[in-house]
Amino acid sequence: MNHTNFALNESEIPKYYLNISYYLKKYLGKLPDPPLNPMTKQPAGPADLSAIFPMELIKQEVSLEEKIEIPEEVRDIYKMYRPTPLIRAYRLEKFLDTPAHIYYKYEGASPTGAHKLNTTIAQAYYNKKEGVKTLIAETGAGQFGSALSLACNFFGLKCQIFMVRVSYDQKPYRKTVMQLYGADVTASPSNKTEFGKKILAGNPSHSGSLGIAISEALETVVKTQGSKYSLGSVLNHVLLHQTVIGLEAKKQMEKAEEYPDVVIGCVGGGSNFAGIAFPFIADKLKNKNKTRFMGVEPSSCPSLTKGKYEYDFGDTAQMTPLLKMHTLGSGFVPSPIHAGGLRYHGMAPQISFLYNEKLIEAVAYDQNSVFQAGVDFARTEGIIPAPESTHAIKAAIVEAITAKKEEKKKVILFNLSGHGLLDLNGYDKFLHNQL
Ligand SMILES: *Cc1c(COP(=O)(O)O)cnc(C)c1O
Repeated sequence: MNHTNFALNESEIPKYYLNISYYLKKYLGKLPDPPLNPMTKQPAGPADLSAIFPMELIKQEVSLEEKIEIPEEVRDIYKMYRPTPLIRAYRLEKFLDTPAHIYYKYEGASPTGAHKLNTTIAQAYYNKKEGVKTLIAETGAGQFGSALSLACNFFGLKCQIFMVRVSYDQKPYRKTVMQLYGADVTASPSNKTEFGKKILAGNPSHSGSLGIAISEALETVVKTQGSKYSLGSVLNHVLLHQTVIGLEAKKQMEKAEEYPDVVIGCVGGGSNFAGIAFPFIADKLKNKNKTRFMGVEPSSCPSLTKGKYEYDFGDTAQMTPLLKMHTLGSGFVPSPIHAGGLRYHGMAPQISFLYNEKLIEAVAYDQNSVFQAGVDFARTEGIIPAPESTHAIKAAIVEAITAKKEEKKKVILFNLSGHGLLDLNGYDKFLHNQL
C-alpha cells in the first residue's frame, strides 16, 4: 500500500533521446520556423553554427529521426544519478486535502542538484570527440555553469563561465562550486570583453542579464583557439537531451498504473519542461489524448504569457542567429528575482511553437506566491526546491485545489528541476518578509 517511490533500475535508463521534431512533422505536418542568419535573413546553415558548436550537435539540431542514440560513455555517467526518482507526494496531497494524485520527478538528485547535467554530459562528450579543448558559456543562477564545469572535468576539457552579476552576488557559493570542479568564473558584465566594457561604461553597477552574459561568452569563443560555446537551454539539441526525464517518468507512471492528466514544468529557456513533457506530447500527437501541458514562468519575466512570437536575437549584443520565439525583446533586463534560471527574455523555439499551436498552456506567478509554494512543499515533502522549481510546484498546487473544488480525481505530474540548498538566501528573505 501507499507505494511512494517508483524506482527504476540502471538498465531502464533510456538508450536514446526522443526527438519531438519527428512527431511534429509526422502528426502535425509542420515544424517550427528555422533560425535565420541575421545578415542574410536566410535559414542558418551548418556553416553559420560550426564556429560555435560541434557538428554532431548541429546535426541533432535539425534531425528528423525519431530516436537519437545516447552514447555508452554518456550513459555510463548518467548511471551515477539516473534513473532519478519519481515520487508520489502523499503528504502534499494530504496538506491540500485534495482528491488529486500528485507525482514529481526529482532532477535535484543529480550531483550538481538540477537537470542541467543531462545535457552538459552529452555536450562535453561530443565536443571532446571532435577535438575541442575549451567550452565557454554563460550561467544565470549558476546551475548550468556548475553542470558544465563538472561535465568538462569528466572529459578533460577546460571550462570558462560568465556568471550574471546579480546571481554572482546573491549566490556566491555557486561560484565556489564551479571553481571546485575546475572552471574559470567571471561575473558578467565584465572587463574581459569589449561588449562587457561597453555595458560597464554605461552603468558600472549593472546587475547583468543572461542576454549580456551570452554575448560575452560568444565574443570570447571567437577570440579563443580550440574553444566552442555551450548552451544550457533554448536550442533543440538541449531540449532533446532532457527527454531522458520524460522517458523515465513514462515508465515510472506505468509502474504507478496512472497516466498524467496534466504535466507541469517551470520555464526559463524551456529545457526541463521539454524534458518531462515531450515524451507525453509525442503520445498526445499520436493518440489524441486529453493530457494538458503547462509551462510556468515568473510574472517578472513572462516570455510566453506576455511576449511576442517573432524572430529575435538570443543575446543582447545581437550576435546569435535569429530565433522564432516568444520574446520580451533581446534588450529586456528582468528584475533580479531569486529564480535566476528563469530570467531569460526568450523561450525555446520548440516550446514557443507548441504554445502557438495551443498544444501547451502557460501561466505566470509572482515571486512571493511561488516561495510560499516552496515552503509548503519543503514542510510536507521535505525537499527544499530551487526557486525556479517552486513555479512548477505553485501550478501543481493550483491544479490540485481546482480538482478539490470540482471534486474530481486528477493525476498531476510535475518536474522538480532542482533543489534549493544553495538558494537559502532567497528563502531567508521570504521568511522575514523581505522579498
Ligand atoms: C536552469 C534551471 C531552470 C530553467 O531552465 P529551463 O531550460 O527552462 O529548464 C529551471 N530550474 C532549475 C533548477 C534550473 O537550474
